[in-house]
Amino acid sequence: MLRSGHAELYPEITDELLVEARRNEEELALARQIGPTSAMLVPLVARGKVTGVFSLITTTSGRHYNAFDLTLAEEVGRRIGLALENARLYREVQQSRDQFDIILQGVADGIIVYIPDNRVLYANEVAAQMSGAASVHELLDQPDEILLTTSPLIDEQGHTLSPEELPHRRVLAGAQEAQATLSVQGTERWVQIISRPVRTQSGAVTMVISIWHDITERMRVEHRKDEFISMTSHELKTPVTSLKGFTHVLQRRLTKQGDEQGLSYLARMDAQLDKLTRLISDLLDISRMQAGKLALRIEAFDLDALLNEIVDNVQATTTSHQLRIEGRTGAQVKGDPDRLGQVFINLLTNAIKYSPAAEHIIIHRFHEGKQVIVSVQDFGIGIDQSHHDRIFERFYQVGPEEKTYPGLGIGLYLAREIVSRHQGRIWVESRKGAGSAFFVALPQMEPKEHTWPADPTKREG
Ligand code: ADP
Repeated sequence: MLRSGHAELYPEITDELLVEARRNEEELALARQIGPTSAMLVPLVARGKVTGVFSLITTTSGRHYNAFDLTLAEEVGRRIGLALENARLYREVQQSRDQFDIILQGVADGIIVYIPDNRVLYANEVAAQMSGAASVHELLDQPDEILLTTSPLIDEQGHTLSPEELPHRRVLAGAQEAQATLSVQGTERWVQIISRPVRTQSGAVTMVISIWHDITERMRVEHRKDEFISMTSHELKTPVTSLKGFTHVLQRRLTKQGDEQGLSYLARMDAQLDKLTRLISDLLDISRMQAGKLALRIEAFDLDALLNEIVDNVQATTTSHQLRIEGRTGAQVKGDPDRLGQVFINLLTNAIKYSPAAEHIIIHRFHEGKQVIVSVQDFGIGIDQSHHDRIFERFYQVGPEEKTYPGLGIGLYLAREIVSRHQGRIWVESRKGAGSAFFVALPQMEPKEHTWPADPTKREG
């Protein structure tokens, strides 16, 4: 019966039936003592499988089961079977949850799982410690804004994070992935947070998993490296400035003596010293940037005029390339012209450096909505897609063949920092071997913001 899954009905149990069903004499004696009159054997069925059987027996009441009783008993069997199966599944789920929790609690990284209303669905102990929460329960109970007010998070520049800047919020707002390097204010501990979404088949975000990785040690090493860079660049600056001064003295002398050859050697020395000065000042800028001390002198200026001047200056340093400007923005921009100039100089010198076999560099200037866009296009070695984001990182160089070009991998890092401090954006479009175009988008000043004097002919009244 158990195997077939069908219930069995015995309306009348005769003594012959007991004899037939006995397994031994003892069992028969017991059955006779009970004196059954009628019986039903009902399977317990769940998901089409028989998981057990229960029997109903009448004795002294003299009642005889019928087909109706059997149907009823079968239904009861099915319900009991289902209830038992649910209990078993529940126990299994509970067990695997417990196991899963043990594993996640044992991981050295903090793990927080958020659901779309920014609530925490799961967090391990490490995450609670790293985020400054008193316990996992506090993390589970408190909205992230509250936690941010009791344990503010700061970034590398010391800025306090707003709730919208939290990586999980950025993923919930649509980002594919969000990262941040943060510290709980007042602690020496640094964490890198990476948040990624979990999606349904239709693409909707159901959860965001944030991993908190302790990078305190790495940050200490970085800090020591920054201090070293800052110290050496300061130390290098003094002798280079003094060398530069002596070249000027020497230049006057050689001019007086009419020593043409000497002057030409000196000019080359001077050009190399200029390169060295630029490198040193880039290194100093990096240190300032890291310390959040890169000051901008904001003013309204004419972007086209600035670009014309820079292109002329860079053109004067090269005979191998022709620099051509196309279009004009006609725009005033609010920003630091020296710093933005430094960005364009970096892009132009890179364009020349990384296109040794080409002759042209094109500078396009145009509008897009309320933005002005400047692009620097070269026809050189190009950059593979996989490096497009990373080339803006500090000290990143595409390698190994590109490493044969001189440089430290800081120009684009500085460019991105400067542009983003102007609420602008910098990006690259390029393929390996097919040249590169670097774009800088900057917010254009509204006409009413313009600082030039109003046209008196247009004045009303
Ligand atoms: P570097 O001093 O090495 O030129 P940058 O920060 O200016 O440093 O650039 C980072 C890296 O990006 C370079 O090392 C190079 O690999 C790549 N790169 C930058 N500009 C170009 C370009 N115009 N064409 C090809 N590769 C470029």
